[in-house]
Amino acid sequence: MSVYHWQPASRQRHVLPGPRGTYKTGDKATALCEELVEVADTATMARFWASCEKCWEAAKQVDMSATRPR
Ligand SMILES: [Zn+2]
Repeated sequence: MSVYHWQPASRQRHVLPGPRGTYKTGDKATALCEELVEVADTATMARFWASCEKCWEAAKQVDMSATRPR
């Protein structure tokens, strides 16, 4: 089963593979939009960044509900 989560990275909120907490600030990862992004510090203004539109489209194709706790 594939798991994804929204993660502030490269000045947008992208969808990254893996459960929340997989990446640390400064890590590089390939988002669902296929961009190589740099993970941002979530304690900053990052949570107000806009969501990546390509990731939104890609997220419709995967089961994001898997990232929520039961
Ligand atoms: Zn993206």
